[in-house]
Amino acid sequence: MNRQIDMVDLKGQYAKIKSEVDQAIAEVVESAYFIKGPWVKEFACNLAGYTGAKYVVPCGNGTDALQIALMALDLKPGDEVITCPFTFVATVEVIALLQLKPVFVDVHADTMMLDETKLEAAITDKTKAIIPVHLFGQVANMEAIMDIANRHDVAVIEDNAQAIGATYTFSDGTTKGAGTIGHIGTTSFFPSKNLGCYGDGGAIFTNDEKLFKRINLICNHGMEKRYYHDDIGVNSRLDSIQAAVLDVKLKYLDEYGKARQEAAARYDEYFTKVEGVTIPARAKGSTHVFHQYTLKLENGRDELSAYLKEQGIPHGIYYPVPLHLQKAYMHYGFQKGDFPVTEKLCEQVISLPMHTELDEELQNFICQKLERGLHSALTL
Ligand SMILES: *Cc1c(COP(=O)(O)O)cnc(C)c1O
Repeated sequence: MNRQIDMVDLKGQYAKIKSEVDQAIAEVVESAYFIKGPWVKEFACNLAGYTGAKYVVPCGNGTDALQIALMALDLKPGDEVITCPFTFVATVEVIALLQLKPVFVDVHADTMMLDETKLEAAITDKTKAIIPVHLFGQVANMEAIMDIANRHDVAVIEDNAQAIGATYTFSDGTTKGAGTIGHIGTTSFFPSKNLGCYGDGGAIFTNDEKLFKRINLICNHGMEKRYYHDDIGVNSRLDSIQAAVLDVKLKYLDEYGKARQEAAARYDEYFTKVEGVTIPARAKGSTHVFHQYTLKLENGRDELSAYLKEQGIPHGIYYPVPLHLQKAYMHYGFQKGDFPVTEKLCEQVISLPMHTELDEELQNFICQKLERGLHSALTL
């Protein structure tokens, strides 16, 4: 096969919407209204409509979104924030930066998301927030998490950087958009995310008017009236060019999700028949928008990864080291063995190319290489 394989094909995606995107960018540039232009408000409004969130505050990136969400809760140094150790570092980084104490709860071996059956035991008098991570494109068990959080009067911030466009259906039949269920939701528009811009970007969701006002204030130097600062804030903005690009791409987000789901179904069909490989589990109540397509291997993951690298097949290991065993976070006193499910997953997972431009030919090629690599890895 003579085609390039990418982990994420942003060039192919752009080619299909080039005229619309180019025009949107040109409009911003010609207006010279680079910061706080009307595109930002327009996009926030459209994203609120799309997700069902009452309020959307765009900001600089997904990490800022998490930090600002925590800042809006008025926590004190030493307050505890629960999250899981199987996620991108940003989730725990902002907890540490604000001098809060990260408390980890292990994940489910199948969905790889926060194990709600272990949540209650981690809650103390100091617990002020829980950050479930909607990993790889699915929504964590929000029904159980909200129930536990509400009983203990703890805030929930959904880290929805990977699952924008997914929905969650409660046992009473109510369906809500990912990121709109907790007290606050956050997302990232990093280029490779499901709704990616052409630079950095992020957003914060809430249904609570008071939190909305506070979040808005924090994003803008704690300033409502110009040069009067009521709060210590940050400078975190989505710029007009990114908002204009995102507003174009938002129209296609459902279509993009469908393309990813179709690609996932083709991978599933291939790999259900391959021994030693587990296809992605589907979380109860959630749709899956496949930010990543992540297989679990019983063994030989590193050998397979080396083989694929040699063969030029892109793939990713998300994540190779659990957060509780990262050098920067060891001083909290975590030890190997503390979160065994996460530790095992870090040795088993491998993510395959997943994007909106995949087709059968590309995937067959990837699958065959992977199966061949698996055989050689297992017989080593
Ligand atoms: C990407 C990501 C973030 C951070 O987003 P940035 O925009 O890169 O700052 C946070 N949490 C998770 C789970 C992510 O995947």
